[in-house]
Amino acid sequence: MVILRTQDEIKSYSLEMKKAGKVIGLVPTMGALHEGHLTLMREAKAKTDVVIASVFVNPVQFGPNEDFDAYPRDFEGDCQKMEKAGVDAVFHPTPEEMYPDGFCTYVNVEGEFTKRLCGGQRPGHFRGVATVVTKLINLARADKAFFGQKDAQQVCVIRRFVEDLAIPVEINMVPIVREESGLARSSRNMYLSAKEKEAALVLSRSLNKAKEAFDGGLTKASAVKQIIVDEINKEPLAAIDYVEIYSFPELEEIEYINREAIMAIAVKIGKTRLIDNVILEG
Ligand code: AMP
Repeated sequence: MVILRTQDEIKSYSLEMKKAGKVIGLVPTMGALHEGHLTLMREAKAKTDVVIASVFVNPVQFGPNEDFDAYPRDFEGDCQKMEKAGVDAVFHPTPEEMYPDGFCTYVNVEGEFTKRLCGGQRPGHFRGVATVVTKLINLARADKAFFGQKDAQQVCVIRRFVEDLAIPVEINMVPIVREESGLARSSRNMYLSAKEKEAALVLSRSLNKAKEAFDGGLTKASAVKQIIVDEINKEPLAAIDYVEIYSFPELEEIEYINREAIMAIAVKIGKTRLIDNVILEG
């Protein structure tokens, strides 16, 4: 597994692979890798010839009061995991390498749907994501890029700008990987104390309860949403950021769940903000 730290290094690596006729898969991450990330990498390995994973905590997608400095970083541990997952090359630049002096171009997806869910809570977040993902796709000359359903709105945003800007890459969405308890795997789970981790089970539990009601015939979105809200409100350590049900992947308001839809939630457990979602076949 080779480690690439500069734009020049990744550009010559990907050019070499392209010239050799390889199909290149890209898996962007912010590191502190867990089974969710590794599943993306294994999926990329199964579907492409060469996997380039990036490990880059992207400052542009964090707000001023968010956890950029505190975000967990363990590059050595990450490399061991990536090697086992079959990653061929890791791109690990510094912020200065990605955003050198004079950098002033951003990708801004303007659809209303980008202002919902995490877009409403984290202004500028998707601008940062779209900008870095565009740059990573270009540097890696990626034929396919892999993202988790865990960040479903991110996948909607990426699919949108890839189509709008005619970027020649195929976007693949991989289902959410969970712990046995049901908790969606996340690098931010590291912030949780044992008691908070127990409390965090309310996210998946509330979504499962709502899904059961939907599977049982309840289709009124507000009623399904209320089931989630009631379940979360029973947990004293949990505070709701949002609970929403939208059509998927358009992320439009719906009164009844009669087509593909997403139940998406963001909940603070103590100081830690966690997200989760379930996609319903309408
Ligand atoms: P991050 O490092 O948090 O930016 O995540 C990098 C990629 O891994 C994103 O595409 C995430 O959606 C994906 N990912 C994170 N957690 C999970 C999970 N539990 N299951 C599936 N994919 C995930």
